[in-house]
Amino acid sequence: MGKRSTPTPSTAEPAPVDAHKARPWWDPVRFARRSVFPALLQAVALGVLLFMIGAGWGLHGVEGIAVEGALMYTNIATFGFWVFWFMALVLLLPLVGRLWCTVCPVGWCNDLAARWGLARPWPRQLQNLVLMGFLLLGLTLGAEQFSLNRYPDQTALLLATVLLAAILLGLVFRGRVFCRYLCPVGGMIGLYTRVAPVEIGSANQEVCRRCESKACYFGSTKRYRLGIAGRGVEFPLRRPGCPAFIYPPEAAANAACLMCTQCFKNCPYDNLRWGARRPLAGLWLGRMRDRSEALLVVVLTGIVFYRLARFWGALRIVVEWPATFAALHLPFVGPAGFKGLKLFAGFLLWPLLFYLVLAALARLASETRLTEVAAGDQAAAVAAFDAEGIDEQRRDEARRWLLKRQTLWGYLATYGVAFLPLLAGAYAAFSLIKLNEKLGYLPLVLADPAGIRNYLAMSQIHVLTPPDSLVPLGWIRWGTLAAVAIGAACSLWSMGRVGAAVYGAGSRPATRGALVFRAGVVALAAVMLLCLRRWLFRG
Ligand code: SF4
Ligand code: SF4
Repeated sequence: MGKRSTPTPSTAEPAPVDAHKARPWWDPVRFARRSVFPALLQAVALGVLLFMIGAGWGLHGVEGIAVEGALMYTNIATFGFWVFWFMALVLLLPLVGRLWCTVCPVGWCNDLAARWGLARPWPRQLQNLVLMGFLLLGLTLGAEQFSLNRYPDQTALLLATVLLAAILLGLVFRGRVFCRYLCPVGGMIGLYTRVAPVEIGSANQEVCRRCESKACYFGSTKRYRLGIAGRGVEFPLRRPGCPAFIYPPEAAANAACLMCTQCFKNCPYDNLRWGARRPLAGLWLGRMRDRSEALLVVVLTGIVFYRLARFWGALRIVVEWPATFAALHLPFVGPAGFKGLKLFAGFLLWPLLFYLVLAALARLASETRLTEVAAGDQAAAVAAFDAEGIDEQRRDEARRWLLKRQTLWGYLATYGVAFLPLLAGAYAAFSLIKLNEKLGYLPLVLADPAGIRNYLAMSQIHVLTPPDSLVPLGWIRWGTLAAVAIGAACSLWSMGRVGAAVYGAGSRPATRGALVFRAGVVALAAVMLLCLRRWLFRG
């Protein structure tokens, strides 16, 4: 995703040979360097995905029973994808970041197809996160509008379409373009990666500096010998370079890293590590990948906000007011259009307005001067770039980059990412409640993947009791409030770091801009806490 990071040229001396290390058997890097990792896990995940598609294919409900979404929690396609996988992912992403991408079967198919495909470059105009943002929005709106999560056949069709799209795109374009520019879930995961304390990076920069091959980026070729009964044949095997076009030793935030472990296998010096970094550091390490990332932040905010806002009646009326107004005044807006407008207002319109108002206020605050200042903030920030001693071309790029971040969208792109801890906390709270409510269905789904027998046993002949929540709600509801409060505190704390990293410490856009967006964090967190209170503390 985003811009490429290319290797800096190596110095003349070769890397020291003693850079090889003997690793203990439990070291995850040992696994990462093996060819079968993560292919074996991906193959298992692909098998599960195909099984889910098969179990949901053509199954809309239970014959003769007119209950909408009858199989929602008993069929493995709907339960497995929307409840078990998606909710667990949302819960774990703030901790593990892109680790899911390591085993994702869709990304694997995209990668394999790309190795044998036409290897065309992805159009330059689309090398950003805009499509990903719209696809995440489209998936959310589509899932709600057509209740995709209720029907196994529709879920199976969605999964099959995604898998097929990944393969077809791989056959045409090089690199994992589906993962980098299109996967809607990947877009969300990429945002969470900034919060997660997991990263891939080089263990010893000096070794990388001397490394001539830069095989982590460009790939490598090894010769193998196949011997049979004393006779043998030698052949070369080419291992492709980084599918995300990242140079790991210099990829500061690694938000675009797909954690595919290809660089581990390619590095001749075993110089890559898979380790921990300070939580939240990805929010301000390195620059924003792309201003289009802001669209993903807006959509993710809408997803979390509207899901919670529906539990507070008065807020829901306000949020859906534009749709109600349109339905009352525009005769051609039917029931489907009304529902679509409500979703559009909740998932996109209000979050976008919220961020644009904050951005406008931040810009106003940054550009308002009460006393005359000798040197502008922009000059101060550019001076910082000068001090780094980078060349003229890069300095121009940096100047242009900074100017773009003083527009409305620029403020949004800069400070929007600092809302991620709050969003992660609130979404995790929502997922925790849902998982707690529905995880009891898992043994039933595994015993009867189609789910018809279990549905009939529970709802028609009543020989099976629907599973209860795993733990009583009273035990975890305070935990959900704590998750939002901790997320908000992290967002407030990160805001200043993000502003300083982008605009320069002490500059007006950094100080005043951060202040305005901090007020936004407090307001959004308060609304989310009130929604959770209405939802979980009734009665
Ligand atoms: S990570 Fe390995 S292959 Fe890449 S530059 Fe460093 S030493 Fe070379
Ligand atoms: S794990 Fe390595 S090869 Fe794979 S995307 Fe990340 S940096 Fe690139």
